[in-house]
Amino acid sequence: FIAPPLIKRFSHAAAGHEGVLRDESGALIIKPCLPKEVAFYQASAAHPAFARWMPTFMGTLQLTPQDPSTAPALPSASDAAPKKPLETSIVLSNLTFGFTKPCVMDVKLGAQLWDDDAPLDKRARLDAVSDVTTSRPLGMRIAGMKVWKGATKSDYQIYDKNYGRTFSADSVIDGFKEFLFSGDIDDAHAKMIAGRFAAKVEEVLAVLENQESRMFSASLLFVYEGDPDALEHTLLIEKERKPAKDPLAEGEQEEDDDDEDEDEDDEQAAAKAKKAEDLKLIDFAHADWTPGQGPDLNSIHGVKSVLSLFKQLAA
Ligand code: ADP
Ligand code: MN
Repeated sequence: FIAPPLIKRFSHAAAGHEGVLRDESGALIIKPCLPKEVAFYQASAAHPAFARWMPTFMGTLQLTPQDPSTAPALPSASDAAPKKPLETSIVLSNLTFGFTKPCVMDVKLGAQLWDDDAPLDKRARLDAVSDVTTSRPLGMRIAGMKVWKGATKSDYQIYDKNYGRTFSADSVIDGFKEFLFSGDIDDAHAKMIAGRFAAKVEEVLAVLENQESRMFSASLLFVYEGDPDALEHTLLIEKERKPAKDPLAEGEQEEDDDDEDEDEDDEQAAAKAKKAEDLKLIDFAHADWTPGQGPDLNSIHGVKSVLSLFKQLAA
């Protein structure tokens, strides 16, 4: 018996619109999207250095619009109201997949948050938010977070869009501290993860400096393992896997027989699904590839600010 594929509500969104879904396994998210985001993902195939920092794009789905109260089950074809247009969703790899207690922070990039398609009233509204938040001075703001508070509370703390709006350029480091140091993992681990995020953000920065694209209101999405035992276990697996990077050790492995290689592959695949932390760029509803226009200084400003904060927290 094979159960029919089910689509469920995605519970690890840190910000943004309602209505993000996931597949039954949790490996994929399914997000309502605009044609522009699909086009950006499709064209990203020609920009592999950048695409490495995007979720894996699987394609699109046409979902029948439904009453949210009846979600998450998909209606059968016969339930579909004939007049309702189909909504296009984008199918992406889920960054939080494989984490036991993913802690998530969405950092929205840019001092300018609107693209040329935005009507004047929307520009004015987004400019007003930028002016009174860290978006203007730092080119980024915390759009939302989710932090696992651990054994005692046994729950997540949710920080909505208003949380990140309370900070100034001088105080926003407290928001980043809250993300890493207020959960269930100890400070030494939090510091280590800050260092790993800094290293990853540095790589993103290097990529953006060599790309000709424009993103407005895209985000850096940070995820780390908030379960202390799962984190410990993941770090142990990382350590065990490290010797394989030694060219001598790899040479020895090549002499293994096929059976052992298969075992190795299985173990590595399981270990690969477990991560201590991850970072990707997301939300390309207002993004374009813009050959000839040079790097995206608006987004780079924010990425540099984020880098400086994680460096401070890792020191
Ligand atoms: P919007 O802001 O337009 O609603 P986003 O693309 O920013 O759409 O997605 C909303 C939220 O969903 C993000 O803040 C993030 O927490 C979550 N999310 C989006 N894409 C992924 C992904 N590939 N993996 C995990 N979470 C995601
Ligand atoms: Mn978003």
